[in-house]
Amino acid sequence: MSAGLHEAPMTPILPGSTDTAGQQATLGVLGGGQLGRMFVHAAQRLGYRTAVLEPDAQSPAGQVSHHHIQTAYDDPAGLAQLAQLCQAITTEFENVPAQALQTLALTRPVVPGAAAVGIAQNRIAEKALFAACADKSGVSCAPYAVLETPAQLQAIQDERADLLPGILKTARLGYDGKGQVRVNTAGELAAAWAELGSPACVLEKRLPLVAECSVLVARGYDGQVVSFAPQRNVHVDGILAATHAYEGTMPPALAARARAAAISIAQHLGYVGVLCVEFFVIDDGIEYGGLVVNEMAPRPHNSGHYTLDACDVSQFDLQVRTLAGLPLPEPRQHSPAIMLNLLGDVWFDASGQPREPDWPAVLRLPGTHLHLYGKMHARAGRKMGHLTITGSDVGSVRAVARRAAGLLGLPGLDAL
Ligand code: ADP
Ligand code: MG
Repeated sequence: MSAGLHEAPMTPILPGSTDTAGQQATLGVLGGGQLGRMFVHAAQRLGYRTAVLEPDAQSPAGQVSHHHIQTAYDDPAGLAQLAQLCQAITTEFENVPAQALQTLALTRPVVPGAAAVGIAQNRIAEKALFAACADKSGVSCAPYAVLETPAQLQAIQDERADLLPGILKTARLGYDGKGQVRVNTAGELAAAWAELGSPACVLEKRLPLVAECSVLVARGYDGQVVSFAPQRNVHVDGILAATHAYEGTMPPALAARARAAAISIAQHLGYVGVLCVEFFVIDDGIEYGGLVVNEMAPRPHNSGHYTLDACDVSQFDLQVRTLAGLPLPEPRQHSPAIMLNLLGDVWFDASGQPREPDWPAVLRLPGTHLHLYGKMHARAGRKMGHLTITGSDVGSVRAVARRAAGLLGLPGLDAL
């Protein structure tokens, strides 16, 4: 299988270079969210010009890019302009229309490719991929069944009691816990599926999670792979709340298995670019070997934001390097880190009144790195920014994170 494999560009796109027409090296990104913004920052630091295609006039990435093409993601004129401006193009969210990537790929290197993005867009295809990789990766996904037809519903109700209690997940467009319903009985399953409008879904067995982690991998056109050590993630209400990235946050044997599995999935896909693979660590150490692969994102990931401040090369640096065909050094983490996500809720007090978070108090704490994404309106659950805490040792990082969480009205660190 070679989904996402793109032929190597003839020559790397060197920082600061100009082409024969005198155009400065420009890198493009489809999508204008915070991941696009941090990609743009990384590209610009290396001296590239950048272009963002994003319909929203006030997007986080559009605000900071040299060029902002303000059209729909599948607008032919917008895509043509992006291809004309850029030597290579990436994407920052997986729900970009696969057709748009295919159109761009006719004239420019586009990584990750439409095929890999297409798999990540569809939980059914994603689980089939994980199942196909399981022998090589050594890690399976949760037991599941595909639910697309009334006959499949009946078959699950009759024969797959082992999947209950379970989680019904829409095959497409789910993120941050959206498009998911917890079901305990065959009757609840039928009702939940009907309530969703009977779209293509998977029903997944609900597993006794003891932890969650993710691994970021970067793979170049030439097949070279580098990766970060697994980081441990804490979700609240289905949304990432905190990431713990330091030695000892995961048992070393599990961490090594997760890292090897993520690398083997990237290799199996012939993937080019940055890939995030999410895992569950479960209670049942025998049946599932303790580690279960959950899902993947064909791009940098919220759980890798700490790499900006705690590593010598960040996930966004690696995204730029893979796209431009530059060398890929193995990243090194120089500080233990905790990342706290800043959702819109932080901009409201306990009684729901809008407030400005006490940034001076937060920034007075040692080793705090505040990243705000330039979003105009705070809403509950909306990702507005993140705060990374670094320090010389885990104990001091945890102590500062605890104080920062308290100042921001986040749950206590025991819950994070
Ligand atoms: P999303 O695309 O919204 O991130 P996920 O499949 O990662 O969807 O689910 C979101 C969260 O829900 C997970 O991080 C985990 O906390 C919980 N979850 C998902 N699937 C299961 C499962 N099979 N068993 C237990 N918890 C789960
Ligand atoms: Mg997830």
